[in-house]
Amino acid sequence: CGVFGYIGKDNAVTTVVQGLQRLEYRGYDSWGLAIPIENNIEVYKTLDPLYTADTVPIDFKSTIALGHTRWATHGAVNMTNCHPHVSTSKQFALVHNGIVENYQTLKAQLKSQNVSLISDTDTEVIVRLIELELSKMKQIDEFCEESPLTADDYQEAFGRVFKVLKGRNTLVLICANLNLLLGIRNGSPLIVGITSDASNNHDSYKELFIASDYYSFAKHTNTCLLLDNWQMIRCEQNNVSIIDLKTNQTIPSNWQEFERH
Ligand code: GLU
Repeated sequence: CGVFGYIGKDNAVTTVVQGLQRLEYRGYDSWGLAIPIENNIEVYKTLDPLYTADTVPIDFKSTIALGHTRWATHGAVNMTNCHPHVSTSKQFALVHNGIVENYQTLKAQLKSQNVSLISDTDTEVIVRLIELELSKMKQIDEFCEESPLTADDYQEAFGRVFKVLKGRNTLVLICANLNLLLGIRNGSPLIVGITSDASNNHDSYKELFIASDYYSFAKHTNTCLLLDNWQMIRCEQNNVSIIDLKTNQTIPSNWQEFERH
């Protein structure tokens, strides 16, 4: 499959669709988008070919969006199995490139905890496991009010769930409230690109792209970073950090200037 995420200006949907069009060679069974709108994730899914997506019939203005073009491995080609897979609360959505080899075992574990699945994909298992982790993290204050989940909570839950997955799984998650994209690479490539301000300060950026290949966003920038296996990238508005999932330590971001073709 192909994944494409974007944080930047208010034309996120257009940018992501154009990016996905360049990734169609990686999968053309179906495609979809996740866009945070008024604190919920809205999802757009279709079985139509990407090259026909001149105008996406959604009038969503957002500075952040995530897309996926699917090559089905688990579950038929239909709208339910199409990515992104959204959480029950609509607070986050996930796209996935790969195969969860132990998904039958994980599915059985979920069933024993009365968690039922809507789709036939291995991907949805990951979403449900993250939901369970997040529900353990919700803080209840003295007035019995739940405090909202933080980017740290999502990072922690995502990392924990990734570690129980067997197989080669590259994942990107988008959060509704936090202007947050989290990506993990294990297997298929995950490349990040940024445009910086005039001072070329890579610690803060103007636009960020996270995708399965460089060519899908090459027209925007050639300042890139290649994630290694078992690394997570945490992309917030204007701020990027890389976490080594073997040590749980933040590591320096190795930005490179790619050659333009
Ligand atoms: N295994 C997932 C599915 O079948 C992801 C496939 C892909 O990499 O496109 O939905």
